[in-house]
Amino acid sequence: MSSKMATLSFIALMFNMQHSPIRVRYAPSPTGFLHIGGARSALFNFLFAKHHHGTFIVRIEDTDVERNVVGGEISQINDLIWLGIIPDESPLQPNVKYSPYRQMERLVTYQKYAQQLIDQGYAYPCYCSEKELEQSREEQMQRGIVAPQYNRRCLHLTPEQKATFVKEGIQPTIRLKLQDHHQIKFNDMVRGDIVFNNDDIGDWVLVKSNGIPTYNFAVVIDDHLMDITHVLRGEEHLSNTPKQIQLYEYFKWSIPQFGHMTLIINENGKKLSKRDQNILQFISQYREQGYLPEAITNFILLLGWTPLENREIFTLQEAINVFDETRLSSSPSMFDVKKLTWINSTYIKAMSLETYLTFIEPYFIKSAWVVNLSSEQRQSLALLFKEQLTYGQEIVSLIDQTLSEQTLLEEGVQVLKEASATLVIQAVIKKLEAMSTLNSQYVKTMFKEVQVETGFKGKALFAPIRVQLIGSLHGPELASVLPILGKEEVLKRLRKARV
Ligand code: GLU
Repeated sequence: MSSKMATLSFIALMFNMQHSPIRVRYAPSPTGFLHIGGARSALFNFLFAKHHHGTFIVRIEDTDVERNVVGGEISQINDLIWLGIIPDESPLQPNVKYSPYRQMERLVTYQKYAQQLIDQGYAYPCYCSEKELEQSREEQMQRGIVAPQYNRRCLHLTPEQKATFVKEGIQPTIRLKLQDHHQIKFNDMVRGDIVFNNDDIGDWVLVKSNGIPTYNFAVVIDDHLMDITHVLRGEEHLSNTPKQIQLYEYFKWSIPQFGHMTLIINENGKKLSKRDQNILQFISQYREQGYLPEAITNFILLLGWTPLENREIFTLQEAINVFDETRLSSSPSMFDVKKLTWINSTYIKAMSLETYLTFIEPYFIKSAWVVNLSSEQRQSLALLFKEQLTYGQEIVSLIDQTLSEQTLLEEGVQVLKEASATLVIQAVIKKLEAMSTLNSQYVKTMFKEVQVETGFKGKALFAPIRVQLIGSLHGPELASVLPILGKEEVLKRLRKARV
């Protein structure tokens, strides 16, 4: 390569590596573990950032103090990292230019901007008590108003009235004074043009009487100060967006591009609810069960995003390469556990032998059957399930089904009633008694000899042995099962009268 070309490619490389101004965030409230919906918001923001060489930020929205749980923040960040959704900035890796990354550590900043809005006439203190607000709501509903709004009583207080409230020690909330008859329009990355009318909203609270900002206020201040360019979040926040845009307009700040991802629904078409006990919805639950992080991110990728090509398996890097925000779907996405399981088993099948054995070990050792096995037997037992295993923990029940004696079903009874069954079983017993150890090769040879001696082959040969040993007609190859059970156990089961 000429030196000029080398310089050019160096410049190109630098250019590619340079960060674009795109900055996006995932902003969880630390009210619990990482939920599948949260993980999806995080993943799509991450993919969008990485695809465009931008920055992915995690900011903690902890202003709803009563709902915060101990460990909520760290468990969510750890689960994200486990999934490979690694933040560039977070409370744990702050960029000094933007820190702090927890809202409760930013209260002074919110106070400053609330005061600015009051000074500019865009916000006002409200001294109404909960009881008064409730009364006003009821009155409005009696008058047939379906969505009651704040009646603006405190907007018109005289300085004397205000002074009285202050003297009484009443701590006010601060409300935003919405611009009347104003339309808020924006182009949503998922849903296209959207229009809201301020008259349907009502003056909402920016800062609560305890001095803590509401979500809608803090989020705008932070998104602006953290130079957030795109806000990609769940559909449940769509109605918050006009409230937030009104603030951007008052502050004369540039408005980020908003995108609202569709709902995640269950098989009955209902919104996935955290209270629904039938579906595991937290990443940690899948992690404990032995789902792979790359399979979970692959599954979540397809939850509201459609690839251009007809293909479903993507590594995280491939997802970064092909991610295209214009392909975010605008219809609800169904959470289909069967699909997650299929994707997970696809990843397990593709594992190298070594990776598979390491992956399976922590689940495998929970099986009582494994305790007395040699390392060779362990390996062959684990390998029996590589092709069918859907998640790590499942191996315990698969081993049980394969090695323990199950209750005979009618079809098994029929097999053992065949005249050939006794002949075959007796022949196998005789052969085994003469063998010192069982290994898969010896067992294969032994079956061949029994076939020649008895004249039975295929199902007539194997079905009675299988049923007599396990109780079931189905299961892995007998040549693999017998050595794991061991000579004594096999003989004990074969000698037993089952029908
Ligand atoms: N803290 C909000 C939530 O957990 C974030 C919403 C947003 O992304 O603006 O839903």
